[in-house]
Amino acid sequence: MRAFTYERAANPAAAQRLATTQEEAVFLAGGTNLTDLMRLGVARPAALVDISDLPYDGIEHRADGSTLLGALSRNAEVAGDRVVRERYPVLSRAILAGASGQLRTMATTGGNLLQRTRCPYFQDVSKPCNKREPGTGCPASRGLAARDLGIIGVSDACIAHHPSDMAVAMVALDAVVHIRTVDGAARSVSLEEFHLLPGNTPEKETVLAPGELVTDVELPPPPPGSSNYRKVRDRASYAFALVSTAVSLALDDTGSVAAVRIGLGGLAPRPWRARTAEQALLGARFDEEAAKSAMRAELATARTTEHNAFKVDLTVDVVTSELLSLAAEESR
Ligand SMILES: Cc1cc2nc3c(=O)[nH]c(=O)nc-3n(C[C@H](O)[C@H](O)[C@H](O)COP(=O)(O)OP(=O)(O)OC[C@H]3O[C@@H](n4cnc5c(N)ncnc54)[C@H](O)[C@@H]3O)c2cc1C
Repeated sequence: MRAFTYERAANPAAAQRLATTQEEAVFLAGGTNLTDLMRLGVARPAALVDISDLPYDGIEHRADGSTLLGALSRNAEVAGDRVVRERYPVLSRAILAGASGQLRTMATTGGNLLQRTRCPYFQDVSKPCNKREPGTGCPASRGLAARDLGIIGVSDACIAHHPSDMAVAMVALDAVVHIRTVDGAARSVSLEEFHLLPGNTPEKETVLAPGELVTDVELPPPPPGSSNYRKVRDRASYAFALVSTAVSLALDDTGSVAAVRIGLGGLAPRPWRARTAEQALLGARFDEEAAKSAMRAELATARTTEHNAFKVDLTVDVVTSELLSLAAEESR
């Protein structure tokens, strides 16, 4: 491992100064992803700026029904928070579907959003990877590894997918990411736009400029109806999603869709909002065929290989089955 310096920042301005005045400095939050990548030689920072002492660890529930999660709130705290469980059960379930109890106790909201892909080529420094080393190629798109990787929003340069469970629920909840710029100003971006699609520059993963800090994630009041998170994976626990979905559904008195949200995980370089499927379903009479056809439309542009083509049918089936369960709950 490359030698690095370590400093614990006392306040946001100091953290940003340390991050921008030192060469190859990175922020350290819970460290559960960054330190793994340092051990693998994938991340080789010269300086770690520990942000644990910054005042971003709160969870604030507002009277208007929205919630503000500090970037340093721990995944376990958020998942276990009584109001989060009542207002946003889909978020609590998504977080609990990820990692392990120990990891969730360390992992933070900001770090979870900014965790890097689990593509085996990205994680193996002896292999080419356009994301880790631009211009070296993307063998992942040709081999067996593609099975676990992305099929929507991907490019010739990169098919890596975003591994977070939490973010899939958040994108379905219309979450907004609040950012502190290096000048100390605040700006915000919807979570849906926070992660960039790879195109020809897969090394650029988010809208964050160097030295910018994620301060909070805002969750608007929850959508109407019932919601759930479902994760399909190779092992029952301690595994990343092959496909996951965060869904919410409200039906009107006639059985038509009054509101629907569909987030998808395990399929794309960003937590994916299934806007095409949502539009097809909104106002339509809800039944199994309507759900399947909406999801087929969503995935019509999927770029698959022989190793991951199964993800299309799997996703259609998983989302349809979740929507059917929610519809049954709605009609009770
Ligand atoms: C064995 C294992 C299994 C796992 N399984 C799952 C799983 O099933 N599902 C899942 O979703 N996740 C899983 N994870 C990933 C885990 O959720 C992440 O490692 C964790 O959420 C990262 O949070 P952290 O605070 O530790 O981030 P860190 O490792 O500290 O940081 C990650 C990145 O975010 C940046 N960063 C952190 N906070 C900020 C901020 N406020 N502003 C700007 N930049 C910031 C850091 O510079 C770094 O680049 C697993 C991890 C492990 C090790």
